[in-house]
Amino acid sequence: MFYIASHVLTRRLIRRLIMDNWDRWLCRICEHIYDPCTGDPQHGVEAGTPFSNLPRDWVCPDCGAAKTNFRPCHVYTDEMY
Ligand SMILES: [Zn+2]
Repeated sequence: MFYIASHVLTRRLIRRLIMDNWDRWLCRICEHIYDPCTGDPQHGVEAGTPFSNLPRDWVCPDCGAAKTNFRPCHVYTDEMY
């Protein structure tokens, strides 16, 4: 019983960690996907930078839309967990 409970908790924690830091974000204008694993090297954003840590003036590399035009894209993490 304890094993099951702790197992579920761990999965939840891992999932939360991924949701917070490793989520892909989708541009509503052009459907460009920002992937924290690759970052945006062309615009000085290192790989491993979560979307929430992007500079305030960061814009979509494809269409120039502001950060506010992006929304979280949970598809991949939902498939994994
Ligand atoms: Zn865009």
